[in-house]
Amino acid sequence: MIHVSDILHAQRCKRYAWNIKNNRLKQEGFYHLDMSFSSLWSRFLKVEESAKGQVGDSNEKSEALLKENDWVRFARFEYRGLRTKIALIRKHKEGLDLYYPYLSAYPKENEIINIQIDVKILENLGYKICNIYSVYLNKDYVREEELDIDQLFVLNDALFNRRNKANKTIMELLEACDPIDLDEIIRETDKIIHGEPEDPVRTKGCTSQRKCAYYDFCFNEKDEPNDSILFLTTSRNKLDAYEMGVRRICDMDPDLFEGFPLQYAQYMASKEQRPFCDLFALDTWTETIQYPISYLDFEWDTFPIPPYSGMRPFDVLCFQYSLHVETQEGSLSHMDFFSTGDCRQAFIESLLENVPKEGSILVYNMEGAEKLRLIQLGLQFPQYAEQLKQIYSRMIDLSKPFEHGLYYNNAMRGHFSLKNVMPVFSSDYSYKDLDIQDGMNAVHAYRHYDQANEEEKQYIQHAIRVYCMMDTYAEYIVLHGLLDYMKELEKEAEYA
Ligand code: SF4
Repeated sequence: MIHVSDILHAQRCKRYAWNIKNNRLKQEGFYHLDMSFSSLWSRFLKVEESAKGQVGDSNEKSEALLKENDWVRFARFEYRGLRTKIALIRKHKEGLDLYYPYLSAYPKENEIINIQIDVKILENLGYKICNIYSVYLNKDYVREEELDIDQLFVLNDALFNRRNKANKTIMELLEACDPIDLDEIIRETDKIIHGEPEDPVRTKGCTSQRKCAYYDFCFNEKDEPNDSILFLTTSRNKLDAYEMGVRRICDMDPDLFEGFPLQYAQYMASKEQRPFCDLFALDTWTETIQYPISYLDFEWDTFPIPPYSGMRPFDVLCFQYSLHVETQEGSLSHMDFFSTGDCRQAFIESLLENVPKEGSILVYNMEGAEKLRLIQLGLQFPQYAEQLKQIYSRMIDLSKPFEHGLYYNNAMRGHFSLKNVMPVFSSDYSYKDLDIQDGMNAVHAYRHYDQANEEEKQYIQHAIRVYCMMDTYAEYIVLHGLLDYMKELEKEAEYA
């Protein structure tokens, strides 16, 4: 027995399909969803009282449900060992209409593969499909005091292309699909997930966009040298070069580099076996930094369903910040904020009170993160917009020297997150010693906070605060690591 999702996984990567079936990872959701999504779209479509299929239902059971009801949710169907579940079906004289709800504001055209397989299963069982609809979240909806379910969702007969344009109806997309041999696909997928696992093959799909959750299971890179060709960034040719036996970045044919500054930095660090530093560019960058220096970091959670007024679908809510402030005299102080519920205004007021009114504010990777959060908060609370602007207009992105190849150390192994960069400059501190070791762990701990007992609450709050504090302390270490290295190079140049 296989499910349509097994086919979709196998199309992505055979080993991935096998892993999902045989080596399931425990993963918490990326989004914070307190209520059942199906109950929300059921309310929107006014089908809360409709008949419902159950796990393991046979075709006969689903057929009986459709005979007795015009609307059926979660009906199960099976064709030659391939099972599927359709979120919502409407039966009428001409045939069936199918409804596909998506926890997304722009369900993409590639969803058509799933729909094509479902339609093929239903047609093979003798059903006629008349219309197909998508139901998704309305990105323009701004919540008021109460959630307006009619405004929250959109009902459409189309899916979106890469540019978020809904140019083609689902029926048109279906017509344009290449025909599929479902029997052959079922045989193939069954063999993949129930047979011996194939050896994993490194492809761009393993790391493009979000790194595959199984990457570390599939490939042990611990024994790779720090300047392994596998760690070369944005390279189209590195995997072929690796297959041909090239192991280190400096051993790759120079003609195969795309020529990005960061690749040059990686090449030079590999060739010289010492950190690469563009001293002039780094000096220009550091000159923009003014005292007092604030090191700032936020933690937030993402809500597909806006929980509070002024929020839109997929808005985020900041529940924590950490702030270290360094004076010109060298003193370092720390302040922070943590709260749950609708803490947006308290978060803003605390931030405005604690962030110094002058000097630079260093943030690691601020554009899509801290800066954007403050812009969004300014839109939700216009009375603070100008003061928040005063903060984000003084922000300087500490990740830029690394992303732009002003500094590269082989020990970074092609990674540019704060967690990978800090150990390059100090071995005294490690995220590995903390109870919470990354941002998603902090978010998951925060999600459990309100349900926890008093003792657990104290533990969670402490762990999140320490984690966030480590982030801003790491920013301090990284900046001073860069400054110290620049001094070292300047001394070397003096004695040369
Ligand atoms: S890491 Fe690559 S080979 Fe392994 S499961 Fe993921 S996509 Fe497939």
